[in-house]
Amino acid sequence: MKCTLCPVNCGADRDKAAGRCGVKGLTVAKYYLHPYEEPPISHKNGSGTIFFGGCNLRCVFCQNFSVSRAERGNPITPRELCDIFRRLEDMGADNINLVTPDHVSGYIAEALSIYKPQIPVVYNSSGYCLVSALREIDPFIDVYLPDLKFRSPALSMRYTGREDYFDIAAEAISFMAKKPMKLSEDGKLLSGLLVRHLVMPMCVFDSIAVLDALKEILPKDVPLSLMRQYTPMGYLADFPELNRKITAREYRRVLDHALMLGFADLYTQEKTSVGTEFIPDWD
Ligand code: SF4
Repeated sequence: MKCTLCPVNCGADRDKAAGRCGVKGLTVAKYYLHPYEEPPISHKNGSGTIFFGGCNLRCVFCQNFSVSRAERGNPITPRELCDIFRRLEDMGADNINLVTPDHVSGYIAEALSIYKPQIPVVYNSSGYCLVSALREIDPFIDVYLPDLKFRSPALSMRYTGREDYFDIAAEAISFMAKKPMKLSEDGKLLSGLLVRHLVMPMCVFDSIAVLDALKEILPKDVPLSLMRQYTPMGYLADFPELNRKITAREYRRVLDHALMLGFADLYTQEKTSVGTEFIPDWD
């Protein structure tokens, strides 16, 4: 059957060959307790993070390059994914964190229909997904964690090959914002939306445009995470402007704009969050 799950709409027969997302079926590269997500996500014991192989967006600077390009990852069935959910629960995970799920959301929904964990399920997305696909998995999802990456079609075209990124992601995030916000008494996000934005080198003006757009899209109570962890990764020979970390001044300008817009529930990162030591070890 031709795959039309995501906005790429490449029509690959995923039983036989991979599409743009790079995987035929469902693959998992790693799962573990992640201590470095935002406090309402990592909470006390860590977020039960599952990295799926492949990705439909394929950013040239991907911080998990070998996983998103499907160089790593073992094929698994939805039932085996349920076993991973159970193992992470047994390890004390504060939630199940589905990283890059958009191109495999059908398989994940099948797993969640077999076994729904007792802890919140987090959909950790690039935002490049169709609302029709989100509707299918939404009954099983408690928390949405999208990263709104670009506002400019020229920039998203340059770094992902997808000119329609913002329009698609804005529609997806508007859908995600309907999830009711609920925090536990000790600050764990039980339900709702937390939006991320990764500040990139030479992209301050686009970051400011992203924040302006989010101000329009989001309800007041949605938290925003401004990430400064960008580390040069991937094949950047054709993108020399990306071959450095962001400066303190770049991050400060974006942060000041978020404060000026009145984002009250704001997560920021220290300069020490930058570096390959924060990239998971793909053992
Ligand atoms: S999920 Fe993968 S195979 Fe399906 S349309 Fe998107 S890129 Fe193509």
